[in-house]
Amino acid sequence: MSQLLDNLNPEQLAAVTLPPQHALILAGAGSGKTRVLTTRIAWLIQSGFCSPQGILAVTFTNKAAKEMVTRLSAMFPINTRGMWIGTFHGLCNRFLRAHHRDAGLPQLFQILDSGDQLASIKRLLKTLNVDDEKFPPRELQHFINGKKEAGLRPAAVEAWDDFTKRRVELYAEYEAQCQREAVVDFPELLLRSYELLQRNEPIRRHYQARFRHILVDEFQDTNVLQYRWLSLLADGGHEGGASLFCVGDDDQSIYGFRGAEIGNMRDFEREYKVSSVIRLEQNYRSHGNILDAANALIANNSKRLGKSLWTDRGAGEPIRVYEAFTDTDEARWIVEEIQSLVREGTSRANIALLYRSNAQSRVLEHQLFSSGVAYRVYGGLRFFERQEVKHALAYLRLINNPDDDTAFNRVVNFPTRGIGARSIEALVDASRVFNTPLYQTVPHLSGKPGTALAQFVMLIERLRKETASLPLYEVVAHVIEVSGLRAHYQAEKEGQERLENLDELINAAVNFSTEAGAGQLPDEPVVEMNSVLAEFLAHASLEAGDHQADPGMEAVQLMTVHAAKGLEFDVVFLSGLEEGLFPHENSAQAEDGLEEERRLMYVAVTRARHRLYLSFTQSRMLHGQVRYNLRSRFLEEIPEGLTKWLTPPSPRRSFVSEPSARYFSPNSSKQAMPSMPPPPLLRSRDLGGLSIGQNVTHARFGDGVIVAAEGSGNDARVQVKFGADAGTKWLMLAVAKLTPVSG
Ligand code: ATP
Ligand code: MG
Repeated sequence: MSQLLDNLNPEQLAAVTLPPQHALILAGAGSGKTRVLTTRIAWLIQSGFCSPQGILAVTFTNKAAKEMVTRLSAMFPINTRGMWIGTFHGLCNRFLRAHHRDAGLPQLFQILDSGDQLASIKRLLKTLNVDDEKFPPRELQHFINGKKEAGLRPAAVEAWDDFTKRRVELYAEYEAQCQREAVVDFPELLLRSYELLQRNEPIRRHYQARFRHILVDEFQDTNVLQYRWLSLLADGGHEGGASLFCVGDDDQSIYGFRGAEIGNMRDFEREYKVSSVIRLEQNYRSHGNILDAANALIANNSKRLGKSLWTDRGAGEPIRVYEAFTDTDEARWIVEEIQSLVREGTSRANIALLYRSNAQSRVLEHQLFSSGVAYRVYGGLRFFERQEVKHALAYLRLINNPDDDTAFNRVVNFPTRGIGARSIEALVDASRVFNTPLYQTVPHLSGKPGTALAQFVMLIERLRKETASLPLYEVVAHVIEVSGLRAHYQAEKEGQERLENLDELINAAVNFSTEAGAGQLPDEPVVEMNSVLAEFLAHASLEAGDHQADPGMEAVQLMTVHAAKGLEFDVVFLSGLEEGLFPHENSAQAEDGLEEERRLMYVAVTRARHRLYLSFTQSRMLHGQVRYNLRSRFLEEIPEGLTKWLTPPSPRRSFVSEPSARYFSPNSSKQAMPSMPPPPLLRSRDLGGLSIGQNVTHARFGDGVIVAAEGSGNDARVQVKFGADAGTKWLMLAVAKLTPVSG
């Protein structure tokens, strides 16, 4: 026991050994919050305050949950599977499987990830003949999820205008469709669990009696529904209910855009009459320069509960800053730097590449891949989200539950088997008439479409029979063969990687089979053997991304800053520090948007233990457009003495206040002439002495002004806005003769 507590500082020790009571640990990054929470679980059990079954611990990501279990197993030998440790979604999934009947679900219900959900909404709009320009599917998805996250069913949504009324109707239709197809989207996992606990007293009492200690990491990012779910389990702080132990950091609240409520912290203090708010101020993660940069950055925010961090680890290395010409140059430099770090002995697993937006990962991935540097992507471009993997999963889902129309639609004609759009339309029409899922509707169809569809149904029936008694990984392998997926990708020119991914799916099934099934508790309904496939499918939806690279392999880790929350790495590269990207352009519109971006930046910087690289580029290809950006204001907010520029620092002009106005794209038709002189985005030597904003004259087109530029050397091009007759044109500098005119 003493060993357990040996390395804690006095404040940490006080937090870990609080007698059972409600508590809030409010502390900055790297101060040991997660460590305190994990150690407290061990301490509670070892001191006899609680059995492992009495613990419920919530984290934000699967990765964090795994890390917690790993840390816990390292502290003392214990079957961690008896405890409920996981994400909100993961725990709710477990809960709903155990009580599926009371929740009004078949045991083998399937989970829709957000891509599936979008597809399902699109399909609904089509069936109902709804104009998707008036009701864009993505917006509707956002609307529905927002309502669910606020705990509102359609009947409870207040709608005053016709547009909202229609959206609420569509929300109800969508719910009916999901129920028909036995599928559950992410917010539904939570809402259903919440509703079940609320309305079913025996179940609620059972869990309230069972969980004695509820511990929540990253509490600042819980949304209203999550908080209410926790409150039900903890019996709202009443005598005899569980003790609620929450740790968080208001400076790391980064899910405001998704409805997370920093107000939960205040509500918690009030509703639970929290007497102990413990603050931790020593940072054990980062060297001084990194920590000072983080402190200086976040000091620019006005809405803070206020706290500061110190370290006794010494200043360490300066923060390295690099300015690249293009995103490709940036990626190339990062990979070269990684290679030399690895040569010097840094483990790849201790290096993280962070970025603000998922779209940035492609270029980085490409460079890493072509340089043969092993890497793994968390979130975003997830393994389980890749096309070929989703196809294979769709077959598995149909075997498991033929009523899953999303899966049906995905593979009914993939690989192609001559089932055209017309046949599908006829089928969808019939399914509305008979009010049955697509699969069950097939026998109602006659003629040629009927025959082809019936063959597809026969294929699924055959697969179900043949795989009935096979172990999971053989089921997966068999389905990949017999469905024709393997042959299809073998015939494809670029199919090699896809085939590897399909093989990796079989590997995932092997790993899953050996891990599954060991965690059953005596008081939980026994999950039947034939539901291993269903569990695997749920796992695929929930843990997307965790199996994409060989887990044993040391790999550089790529992820968005959001996904990096709670994690730490020896070396962190943060790329794309450009206005419009980070802070993100959307932040300009949201209230508190910029402050949330800054908190995100604070999260990014505080992930680094020893070395931090910050980079930005003059131009970047994103979503098919070249963008020219100013470097991020966040770079300016880091005191000069803490940084070391690897490229000569260029002056940053600041003359526009809104981030969204700060960049423009040469391909955008809406692009207006900047009303003020644009920044010197490309170095003038790259443009043969010219710069953006410069007035020029051309022999044929007359006078104009340079508004954009790209490429370098012989490929350098500029976009020039000429008079009304000539309009705006892209010109190759090597060919076009442009003469500067003094403005
Ligand atoms: P974040 O806000 O980023 O989630 P955190 O507050 O949860 O950070 P931890 O991840 O728990 O911080 O701890 C940061 C690092 O400091 C970890 O490597 C942890 O093991 C280490 N650490 C925490 N407390 C101590 C201590 N008393 N002595 C030595 N190392 C410590
Ligand atoms: Mg933490």
